[in-house]
Amino acid sequence: MSLKGKVAVVTGASRGIGRAIAQELAREGARVACVSRSPEPLNQTVHEILALGGEARAYCADSTEPAQIQKAAQQILEEMGPVYALVNNAGIVRDRLLLRMTEEDWDVVIDTNLKGVFHWTKTLLKGFLSQREGRIVNISSVSALLGNAGQTNYAAAKAGLLGFTKSLAREVASRNITCNVVCPGFIETGMTQGLDPHLRERILGAIPLGRFGRPEEVAGLVSFLCGPKAGYITGQTFVVDGGMAMQ
Ligand code: NDP
Repeated sequence: MSLKGKVAVVTGASRGIGRAIAQELAREGARVACVSRSPEPLNQTVHEILALGGEARAYCADSTEPAQIQKAAQQILEEMGPVYALVNNAGIVRDRLLLRMTEEDWDVVIDTNLKGVFHWTKTLLKGFLSQREGRIVNISSVSALLGNAGQTNYAAAKAGLLGFTKSLAREVASRNITCNVVCPGFIETGMTQGLDPHLRERILGAIPLGRFGRPEEVAGLVSFLCGPKAGYITGQTFVVDGGMAMQ
């Protein structure tokens, strides 16, 4: 158990990749603060972790509401103690070709996927700095690397995370805090469930491994990056996509 007793915060932990990350961190011994907007699925994540003998608590906060982030972070610090790792995973899509994209489509995706990361990270960073240790893992996407028609908002937010991660990694490295970014390809979650079957077939044709990934296959890397064996890795971008974006 490489993370025994350490507190990890995972945003978007109520389902999909975030739930798998929360479970994997708990398996490694972390005490996991699971965050999202909807209490029921979030409690389900917590119950599943407790049933496996792990430790977790649920905290409701909307990533687009700084006051809710502040409040949840305060509760986590009071109830669970100093935070060691932050996984910024919460994210949404609002796909549309740019000509049809509304300002609201743009804003809500940027606010959730990019600005939410700014707020969560800034809120917990003071603790990391005074502890002189910490791990930050941001979940981006291959859309940030390749672009994707219909995702100008999403790709802009996710590409923003790449620059954010590298800049922050440089700012905090001297305090023994690492900051890395993981870019999943197409992963079987609610986010990809609604894909048009023809589009799905086309995407599968572009994935050398010939299948979509599983949430656990992203979670394993995230957990490694939060663990002691990754102490000399910072400012890096890791791609988990079945080979789709290989150069
Ligand atoms: P899901 O839609 O399955 O889950 C998204 C999670 O984010 C949920 O827990 C949701 O909880 C939470 N969330 C959404 N909006 C907010 C908000 N405003 N405040 C707090 N929490 C929020 O998505 P995935 O698991 O597929 O995606 C997880 C991350 O991985 C995202 O950042 C996504 O962009 C990224 N990704 C996913 C890929 C895929 O193929 N699935 C590919 C590449 C990247 P709730 O609604 O309860 O708030």
